[in-house]
Amino acid sequence: MKCDEVRLQLLDYQEGRLRLEAQSAVRAHLDGCPDCTRADVIERDLTQLLEHRLPQHPASLALKRRLAAQWSEPIVQRGTGRGRGDLRGGAPRLLRAHGIAGVA
Ligand SMILES: [Zn+2]
Repeated sequence: MKCDEVRLQLLDYQEGRLRLEAQSAVRAHLDGCPDCTRADVIERDLTQLLEHRLPQHPASLALKRRLAAQWSEPIVQRGTGRGRGDLRGGAPRLLRAHGIAGVA
């Protein structure tokens, strides 16, 4: 497993959302790669910072309605056919993971 692949999966790895073999592959890579281990620590710190230190604001009614409309669309129409490569970069992933946490 390459560093790029590991970095893309770090958040899912930390949250236990990877399949067992992917989870093991990431863990094995982290054991032998100081750079990715550092990235893992930074990602954990950032997650903790976002979850515990930033003020939580409820989503506006307009945002909730927009999200509900998107979620109720059939999955086949939502898919763009592109892979997770489009999510490269930390900010969009973190926004996806944390930005709408207060909606439900
Ligand atoms: Zn690495």
